[in-house]
Amino acid sequence: MVLVVVERDGDGTLTEGSAEVLAAARDLAESLGVPVEAVAVGEPGDLPDDLVKRGVGRLHLLTHELLDDGSPSCLGEALAGLVADLRPAAVLAPSTDRSTEAMAWAAAELGMPLATACTEIRPVPDGTDDTWEVTRERAGGILLEDAALTAPIRLCTLRPGSPSPSETAAADEMTVHVVVPELRASVPRARLVERRERAAGMTLTTAPVVVAGGRGVGSSEGYAVLEELAGLVGGAVGCSRVATNNGWRPHADQVGLTGTRISPDLYVACGISGATQHWVGCMNARSILAVNTDPEAPMVTRATWAVIGDVHEVLPAVVDEIRRRSGR
Ligand SMILES: Cc1cc2nc3c(=O)[nH]c(=O)nc-3n(C[C@H](O)[C@H](O)[C@H](O)COP(=O)(O)OP(=O)(O)OC[C@H]3O[C@@H](n4cnc5c(N)ncnc54)[C@H](O)[C@@H]3O)c2cc1C
Repeated sequence: MVLVVVERDGDGTLTEGSAEVLAAARDLAESLGVPVEAVAVGEPGDLPDDLVKRGVGRLHLLTHELLDDGSPSCLGEALAGLVADLRPAAVLAPSTDRSTEAMAWAAAELGMPLATACTEIRPVPDGTDDTWEVTRERAGGILLEDAALTAPIRLCTLRPGSPSPSETAAADEMTVHVVVPELRASVPRARLVERRERAAGMTLTTAPVVVAGGRGVGSSEGYAVLEELAGLVGGAVGCSRVATNNGWRPHADQVGLTGTRISPDLYVACGISGATQHWVGCMNARSILAVNTDPEAPMVTRATWAVIGDVHEVLPAVVDEIRRRSGR
């Protein structure tokens, strides 16, 4: 069997990433001649309704109060127990922070390797070898690596948009296997303390223009002019990790490897050097305007346009000029 870890949105529907992994799992399972099964966290009666039409014949429903907080370590331990019992050919999960962390815990628990951020999984055709080939993203997607994954159970997370799978055939019916995992009290776990809704309206991923600031902005107050510029051009404000580390901006604003990856029409990078971990988050922007005092900064040399100057002088001047031209 190919076992898929599925995630759900707040309203209970499958996430897009989970749907993609299910479709890829279906292709993989067909080539191996095995069924697709899924595993989710939830209560009996609270099931993702579109699993059957995505070819899932059996759902393993992990039910435990410690899983309600979304702690990846608890999910990882629960997964490890289930995988040890089921012994699937492969376990696939979406390459989100949560599933990747849970899969890492499960892999450590099982003593098996984990291939993260896979874009392709190629099983050995005759099934006589434990080694499969995978292609996976490295360095935040700048590099693609071909790797050999040798394990009796192949644990992989899949990047969104991995090669498009063929049409998924529906399963006839789906049975539900309720599992109450035994979780050790000694496993360190994150506890959900507060849930904050993102502000409605423009978000980093939907904004056509993102005005982002880094160390060069200098302080949390320094972002006022970036907010103003973003407001004038109908955009959102982003930042580098230095800004989140310094407490100038919330982590939800961070662009990059450990932040959000975005593809706006225009990315305005203010006082951001363009370190690789930041670059992978903005490299898909259609155009980039860098504002930086250093003409040699990687962000400047890679940008579509650059203004060499101090953000504290350049941005207020740009805001004034937009206001003057638009009569606002
Ligand atoms: C595992 C890992 C994950 C990471 N993930 C991320 C991530 O998701 N996102 C991220 O951003 N970083 C990430 N980083 C950190 C990353 O490596 C860089 O340290 C970070 O991006 C640098 O932020 P910065 O460009 O704001 O600061 P700096 O690199 O210090 O650059 C500041 C820039 O501002 C310019 N400047 C200074 N003053 C002014 C001024 N007054 N006007 C104009 N320009 C000025 C300077 O010339 C310089 O180019 C990660 C690092 C690691 C190890």
